Amino acid sequence: MSDFSAQFSKDLRAAGVVGAGGAGFPSYVKAQGRAEFALVNAAECEPLLKKDQKLLEYFPEKVFDGLELLMKAVGASQGIVGIKKKHEKIIPRLEEIAKSRKNISVLKMGDYYPAGDEQCLVYEATGRVVPPGGIPLDVGCVVCNVETLYNAVFAPRPVTETFVTVNGGVKKPATFRVPVGVTWRECVELCGGFTVKDPAYIDGGPMMGKVQTDFDLPVVKASGGIIVLPKTHPLIVKKAQVRPTFTRIGRSACDQCSFCTEFCPRYLLGHNVQPHRVMRTMLFSGGPEHKLHSQYGLLCCECALCSLYSCPEGLHPSQACVAAKADLREQKIGFKNSALNTGKKPEAHPVRDFRKVPVSKLVRRLGLEDYNKDAPWTAEVYKPAKVKILMSQHIGAPCVPTVKEGQKVEKGAVVGDVPADKLGCPVHASVSGTVGKVNDRYVEIYA
Ligand code: SF4
Ligand code: SF4
Repeated sequence: MSDFSAQFSKDLRAAGVVGAGGAGFPSYVKAQGRAEFALVNAAECEPLLKKDQKLLEYFPEKVFDGLELLMKAVGASQGIVGIKKKHEKIIPRLEEIAKSRKNISVLKMGDYYPAGDEQCLVYEATGRVVPPGGIPLDVGCVVCNVETLYNAVFAPRPVTETFVTVNGGVKKPATFRVPVGVTWRECVELCGGFTVKDPAYIDGGPMMGKVQTDFDLPVVKASGGIIVLPKTHPLIVKKAQVRPTFTRIGRSACDQCSFCTEFCPRYLLGHNVQPHRVMRTMLFSGGPEHKLHSQYGLLCCECALCSLYSCPEGLHPSQACVAAKADLREQKIGFKNSALNTGKKPEAHPVRDFRKVPVSKLVRRLGLEDYNKDAPWTAEVYKPAKVKILMSQHIGAPCVPTVKEGQKVEKGAVVGDVPADKLGCPVHASVSGTVGKVNDRYVEIYA
């Protein structure tokens, strides 16, 4: 590792920079790799979320600065910003900036889901397929989200704010920056309040996000936004389906048409993931828990396309894959030691381009047409009276609190950290104030 990479990686860790596209993977690890291509994932393919677009519209230079730092750290000879060509308002400016930088280009992608799946992006940008069970680094690529690179520019200044979109059933949908640790209820109030009765929300995009009903949960560094919907909306009902329900329905209703597999983006990249075969094993799995031991779900990236779009019967093959992976984990089986790990080099399916699912069609299928509004950028940063900083905001070991109740802290002070030998990075005070309750899950700070 070069001196620059070592210092950049150290700064990213100190700043607590994590993947802001939802995954929360600690970015300092990515900066330690070697890659030929550094890719900016600006596809933002989850319908209704707008924060990456707004960030690129209002702070494009910073994102390019972050990309250059990443390219230098990993030794990349090419930087590529992958964005959907429908963002014609932003693209000319991005192309202009790219021209003024060395070895950086803009890749214009179609408006399909999941263009933002990092393995799809790698394929679109380089023609390379990430090996099954592998990561982009295996094919010489490192992929970072827009906001992650924006945050990287300021490292080692701590990440204390995050960009979010609040869309759906609120009076004035908007995209803005908030201190980490404010509640989603406060974010909704910033948007003028609810327009739907008995609301629930999806934390993240409608496809991969999780259904929540508690609006007092705090915003974390990896938050991208929420979609507010009535609790009775079919998407909320479907996503909230529990295992006994989708198993019971799946066992009786799956006709093995295999549409779920035929549209699966990872199957179309040449990976051996076949959700219809996972569904089939439901029929053979006995006992009250109906354990699923099909290995055909091991390479599923949980994009939910099969459950929310492809299946004509409205079944839940993606959740069957999630369940199968969990059941196999109990037996210590992952892809690497599975029977499907043949070592064969994957090749993208010849009809892949014709099976891409347009986002407009997806929005209709999800019943979100009435909720799909613009969410304009609001520059003002909200000043909360209190924040709750979660100790677990990234992939890896959770932080351990480093402050005590009653202690005064300045904005940016470390309030929780991870031992140096563990994967993870610190969390920081997002406001100056007095520490309230402290436990192994969170630290409260009163401004
Ligand atoms: S698409 Fe639905 S019905 Fe067809 S095989 Fe998959 S789960 Fe079964
Ligand atoms: S959720 Fe379904 S469509 Fe998506 S990767 Fe998994 S099996 Fe394939």
